[in-house]
Amino acid sequence: MSRSVIDRKPPSQRPAAPTLGDRPKPGDRKPVTALTPALYIVATPIGNLGDLTMRARDILAAADLVACEDTRITGKLLTAFGLKRPLIAYNDHNADKVRPTLLDALRQGKAVALVSDAGTPLVSDPGYKLVRDVAAAGLAVTAAPGPSALLTALVLAGLPTDRFLFAGFLPPKSGARRTALGELAAVPATLVFYESGPRLAASLADMAAVLGDRPAAVARELTKLFEEVRRNPLSALAAHYAEAGPPKGEIVVVVGAPAAQAASADTLDAALRRALADNSTRDAAALVAGETGLPRKQVYARALELAREQTREQK
Ligand code: SAM
Repeated sequence: MSRSVIDRKPPSQRPAAPTLGDRPKPGDRKPVTALTPALYIVATPIGNLGDLTMRARDILAAADLVACEDTRITGKLLTAFGLKRPLIAYNDHNADKVRPTLLDALRQGKAVALVSDAGTPLVSDPGYKLVRDVAAAGLAVTAAPGPSALLTALVLAGLPTDRFLFAGFLPPKSGARRTALGELAAVPATLVFYESGPRLAASLADMAAVLGDRPAAVARELTKLFEEVRRNPLSALAAHYAEAGPPKGEIVVVVGAPAAQAASADTLDAALRRALADNSTRDAAALVAGETGLPRKQVYARALELAREQTREQK
């Protein structure tokens, strides 16, 4: 009988297997010794520290310089992972001034990491002009992908994910918000918005008014202890938060596509055939238009076609 070769070091010599949620200690993992000179776009956790990828950690451990929105927040993140690197603030207030410094560092062959306070840099966070300028200068730029509230909310919403549009933050004032929503009303895709607790109820009410009462989800405190996803039509969500008051924490709102796109041609035909069995063409169209939210005219036109087909088949 052949014996398989198994590493049977005594327990004291085996490296401890890291488990999710273990708080890392300094020296847990040996950092990579040197990084290829480049700008590294590094995603960081949106709440749960266990979501920092091993690659992100290695890059942060070895980067010559870490550009971040807020040095206190990123300092805490690095400390939690037993890391200490030179930090430089790169945010909405100083980006134009600091960008040349970062480009110089890259030209000198340095490895520069860009992180935001949480999640993926450049997603409703600073960084795109830096990537643009680094690429234009012929310098290397790469990414260590990871957490983002956008995709986390999208995959939990229970709405179609095949086509979606990320619309970031809506304007704070209702008039401008309704105008922005009006521009999105006909987009045949699931919509994803970032929102704040104090504005949530008013924002949902504006969405219901402008987009129609679509299916939606409010995702709150994702990856954190009090993670919550509330799935309901927009009007019910608006009513809930108007009554309950502003929720605590960070929020993403996901809204279903317009009914015309959500209801496929097959779904419409099936609904119409069922309705035509017991109703006149006009009543069947009215019923299905109500069910699907599709324009009455469009549903009636299709109902007439199906009714004619049925009459022909019966002859
Ligand atoms: N770059 C980040 C990303 O990739 O998700 C987003 C930065 S943006 C300035 C911050 C907004 O993201 C918050 O106001 C909230 O709408 C959303 N967000 C961030 N973390 C979240 C979380 N844990 N749960 C729900 N929403 C979150």
